[in-house]
Amino acid sequence: MQESLETIGEALNENGKVIVTGCLGAKVDLIREVHPKVLEITSPHSYEQVLSHVHTYVPKPQHNPFLSLVPKQGVKLTPRHYAYLKISEGCNHRCTFCIIPSMRGDLDSRTIGEVLDEARRLVAAGVKELLVISQDTSAYGVDIKHRTGFWNGQPVKTSMVGQCEQLAKLGVWVRLYYVNPYPHVDDVIPLMEARASNHSASGAPACAPDSPHLRASDPSSL
Ligand code: SF4
Repeated sequence: MQESLETIGEALNENGKVIVTGCLGAKVDLIREVHPKVLEITSPHSYEQVLSHVHTYVPKPQHNPFLSLVPKQGVKLTPRHYAYLKISEGCNHRCTFCIIPSMRGDLDSRTIGEVLDEARRLVAAGVKELLVISQDTSAYGVDIKHRTGFWNGQPVKTSMVGQCEQLAKLGVWVRLYYVNPYPHVDDVIPLMEARASNHSASGAPACAPDSPHLRASDPSSL
């Protein structure tokens, strides 16, 4: 801790503009007490927040396809036809065999607008299947009380169901990973049925090992 605080001090002396993030970011009061000139402090896994802060102090350049090495939709390491869509980090459960909560912390959901914007960019870039992942996909939005966000000028609830309804409109396959059996998961089933009856390319297999939906499902559909 002391070493980290000294490093922050060195960075402040170097250029005076410092944003603190990562594990130490959880100690906001301590950092502010020692280094009141720090610009912003964010907790672990606050990726979007960190970038937002960075762009506050160093405005994001306009994307220029002739000069930028990074495409508009970002860099992805999967083949062109599918992409992972991370919707949250961490988990509120405490399964005894699992180290994830101690490493990643409690559930921390991305805003619905950010998630759907990323999905749209990926689809525009040619992705045909979105793989929705997190540690606990069906808990999406619980940490922010399923706050209503906005996308495409419309209110959208920050929940797995709200998200699936919007993703289904993008016209690509949607595959949900790590779906635990919360009661509201049932609400996704009619959506899957409706899409299937329209011969649309959309599916949402439930992949948690203890999910009743997985047990009831046809493995060949996974
Ligand atoms: S629900 Fe999954 S991620 Fe959460 S503690 Fe249990 S095994 Fe780990």
